[in-house]
Amino acid sequence: MRTLTGLGVSAGVGQAPALLVAPAPGLPSRDPKGDLDTDLEAVTASLNKVADRLDARALEADPSAIDVLMATAMMARDPGLAGSVRTHLEAGDGPAHALWGAFDEFCAQLTAAGGYLAERVTDLRNVRDRALAVLQGLPEPGVPAFDSPVILVAEDLAPADTATLDPTLVRGLVTAAGGPTSHTAILAAQIGIPAVVRCPDVRGVESGTPLALDGVSGTVLVEPDEATVAKLAERAGRRQQVLDAAPTGEATLSDGTRILTLANIGNPADAPAAKKKGAEGIGLFRTEFLFLERQDAPTKEEQVDAYAKVLETFEAGSKVVFRTLDAGADKPLAFADLGPEENPALGRRGLRLSQVRTDLIDTQLAALAEAATRTGRDPYVMAPMVATPVESAWFAERARAAGIRTVGIMVEVPSAALRSSQVLAPVDFASIGTNDLTQYSMAADRLQGELAELLTPWQPAVIQLIEATCQGAGDRLIGVCGEAAGDPLLALVLVGLGVRSLSMAAGKITAVKASLALHSLEQCRAIARAAVAAPTPEEARKAALDLADDAVEVLIG
Ligand code: PEP
Ligand code: MG
Repeated sequence: MRTLTGLGVSAGVGQAPALLVAPAPGLPSRDPKGDLDTDLEAVTASLNKVADRLDARALEADPSAIDVLMATAMMARDPGLAGSVRTHLEAGDGPAHALWGAFDEFCAQLTAAGGYLAERVTDLRNVRDRALAVLQGLPEPGVPAFDSPVILVAEDLAPADTATLDPTLVRGLVTAAGGPTSHTAILAAQIGIPAVVRCPDVRGVESGTPLALDGVSGTVLVEPDEATVAKLAERAGRRQQVLDAAPTGEATLSDGTRILTLANIGNPADAPAAKKKGAEGIGLFRTEFLFLERQDAPTKEEQVDAYAKVLETFEAGSKVVFRTLDAGADKPLAFADLGPEENPALGRRGLRLSQVRTDLIDTQLAALAEAATRTGRDPYVMAPMVATPVESAWFAERARAAGIRTVGIMVEVPSAALRSSQVLAPVDFASIGTNDLTQYSMAADRLQGELAELLTPWQPAVIQLIEATCQGAGDRLIGVCGEAAGDPLLALVLVGLGVRSLSMAAGKITAVKASLALHSLEQCRAIARAAVAAPTPEEARKAALDLADDAVEVLIG
């Protein structure tokens, strides 16, 4: 038996023989040229065919996958792509090379943008490979046919592959590449297939090899022995028992203290799915995701519709938080580009960009106010990347002038955490963004996998900044909407420090509710004190685990 390690991105244990998803055939060496118009027509027709097939798959797919498939179909129909194919044909390429070259350029742009957009490169390459197959009259690449249980093993999987998988036959997914925010990860969790990504050693595994995987810890066992599989399954069973005991409605501590458990979303369609998974509201709607893949800003009317949909999903009085445009750095916007910067993460991003492009923020605030009027709901509206009381006041004044009643800011810059009593003075609430707060307090780029040790929110310095934020907040409601909120053990520390609202990926809510229900506020405070006092992240985590209920151990992988 060999043990491989990757990143667990979709909970559950699976056991079945491996089925390799063959890599797509590459660029053909023979690429005969016709006349330019005929070649352009052939390439465009192949792209359209791929887009049509993706649309057709969307009709059969799990509802949570429909948007992703349609967005991928839109990539295939992108007019910029067709324009670039023409340029390559004019330069003398054959149709297959022109198609390849055009996609290479598109992929290079997304890779350079980094972050969320860079993870869309897999989707784009998959469109390229499918179009190339159509162009050459070959069958489309992808998952081979199978009729008995398998664990799919691939270099990476695109949404078109993942979205239509049947969880009764596909017992797991393992990819060598991919990241936690890749569509493979997101869709696998939504469909309920255990998944491990970024597991490079899986590359040597052959079809038919017995595998077992644990989508919480990221462990993949090759030719596992029975005793180990039994242990994995037993652990998964205990985890399920703890999850089954979690409250399905409102989250409370064991002493009745109310904690809001909310979801992070990037698009209105995610809201009903999050509600089904137990979200009591939305703690972070990353509204920039409505803007990201567009060449022009969405109109006010489009935005009103999107925001109203989210507000209507939850009962009146629920907490539903919209974050205003957080563009720049890893989320660049084509239509709000302020030019190249040496250090984009330290540049004009988030609120700083809104202060330059006041047209964008004013339209957005007006749309939020109109969505509030249309639905009769009271949205929470907060700004990202606030560093000073002056910025906080600037935003609060503008938001209130637009008709927003409940105004807040994100605390994700250390200066805002240290000076929270002044920075929060102009607003009603705050949400701590532990992803950026960790990046900025540890001076470690959050996209640098090699810096993972510095980037954990268990860093005692980060925990201390969260403590400082809560201490200066008075009676304002303080939430956390970074990854830290979805960790069932760290959630206890956050509550012990004074946080009363936790927002996370919807799939994590049940585990967090289960953990909260097992502890009193007094216990959470003791756990928080132990974590703050520890000198290293490992010791902070261990100190917290030692004081927590035994059941938490199976929840954290
Ligand atoms: C954060 O920084 O923790 C956060 C929630 O915002 P984002 O991840 O979108 O930067
Ligand atoms: Mg952030």
